[in-house]
This record gives sequence, structure tokens and C-alpha cells, in this order.
Amino acid sequence: MIQVKDLKKSFGDNEVLKGIDGTVKSGQVICVIGPSGSGKSTFLRCLNLLENPTSGEVLFDGKDMTKLTHSEIAGLGARMGMVFQNFNLFPNMTVLENLKLSPKKVKHLSDEDATKISLDLLDRVGLKNKADVYPSSLSGGQAQRVAMARALAMNPEVMLFDEPTSALDPEMVGEVLSVMQELANEGMTMVVVTHEMGFAKKVADQVWFMADGYIQEKSDPETMFENPQTERAQDFINKII
Ligand code: ATP
Ligand code: MG
Repeated sequence: MIQVKDLKKSFGDNEVLKGIDGTVKSGQVICVIGPSGSGKSTFLRCLNLLENPTSGEVLFDGKDMTKLTHSEIAGLGARMGMVFQNFNLFPNMTVLENLKLSPKKVKHLSDEDATKISLDLLDRVGLKNKADVYPSSLSGGQAQRVAMARALAMNPEVMLFDEPTSALDPEMVGEVLSVMQELANEGMTMVVVTHEMGFAKKVADQVWFMADGYIQEKSDPETMFENPQTERAQDFINKII
């Protein structure tokens, strides 16, 4: 579904991604781990072109996305959902308005249809009763589940998650991970930057370890966490355990 070929990204003379290769198949869950500053967020942002790669290819269903026009890139937003560390909800809109915005604006759904889809999704993440409140009154875990519902409202084919639980109090991590796990069980294709090893072990098909501008190792979760094959990954795993 997604194929990344020799992807490079520099900011000025800071070469962050030095040649990333990888394939994400339909229905797969890939977890990306690696030290702070290694380019995990930059990699995700290059996947959905929030960031313009310096060179290389990102093929989505065989089409090179780095060669799309602006309007084609906008359409892409509908096909890839993204959830950020800090929720990024619009503070001046209710939860329901947050969810309805893109389906109406980008997909031109009627208010009625957008409302129905949004309420169904809020129900699915256990927050139907929060439809009319403002984001500021939500807990972190609730806000993140709303952010997930908002991304899902566009009916994406792929979901990208950038450390979705790292800004949460520990007692709220579980409620967010369990929604993610359900999504994965339903067959959603997912790329998840996370250090939640329990989640990765249960849900990931593959774990990619990123450092120094490259993916240094791709392993199944058990190998990555119990018996990493590269010294670089070993060092990192020892530090986070
Ligand atoms: P963390 O685990 O802390 O989230 P990360 O692996 O996600 O780190 P990135 O956020 O991708 O790392 O950053 C990688 C490098 O790219 C850093 O050196 C960062 O300063 C740089 N960088 C990221 N975004 C930009 C930007 N928009 N402009 C300039 N430099 C940037
Ligand atoms: Mg990051």
C-alpha cells in the first residue's frame, strides 16, 4: 500500500532522513521506535506530505506522492488520517464541530450526514456524551480519543500516529491504546510512532528502529524487544526497558 524508496529529508544542512526504505502492506501495523531527534516525526510527516521530502519516493498504491500537484495532495488528506501527540483539536469548536469540519469542507457531506458519521464515531470511542462540550473540558485521554474519531471521520485508508500517548497521564494511556488496538483488529493499516512496548508486542506486525537518519532494523516485535539484531537497537532497547 505504501512504499518508501530512498527517502531523504534535510532541514538546511541538517540531514535528518538519509535514505529510508520500507513497505507498509494493507492491513499491517508498523510501529516506529528510535531516539529523540532521530526523525520519526519527520518520517511520518513525509509519508502524508505535511513535509516535502528532499528526494526519494513515497508510493501510495503505486502512485508517487512526491510528484502530486497541490490539489492532489489535499485530496490525500482524506486517505491518510493523522493523530498527533498533542491532539491538535480546534479549541473554539465543540467536539462534534471538530469532527464534522473536514467531512463537510473536504468531502462536501451534508450537515446531516456529517453529524451522523461523527456521532457514530464518538460512540465508538466511548464519548458520545461529549459531543457538545469544548475540548478544554476533556481529559487528555478523552481529547486523544476525539482526535482519533476526527481522523476516522474522513474514512481514511491509513492512520498515522505520532506518539499518541506520550503526553498523557499514565492512567489514560490504556483507553487510547485500546481504541488503537480495536482499529488494528478491524484491519486498519497503521504506522505508529510509539515506545509503548506492550502495545507494539500485541499489535505490531513489524517494528522499525530508526536512528542516525536510517531505519537500522526491521524486526517482528518479539525479536526487536527481546533479541534485537543490531547493536544500535540493542543499546536503545536496553535504555527504554
Ligand atoms: P522525538 O522523539 O523527540 O519526537 P523525532 O524522532 O520525532 O524526535 P523529529 O521531530 O523528526 O525527531 O526531528 C528530527 C530532526 O529534525 C531534529 O534535529 C529536528 O530539530 C529537525 N527538525 C524537525 N522538524 C524541523 C523543521 N520544521 N525545521 C527544522 N528542523 C526540523
Ligand atoms: Mg517526534
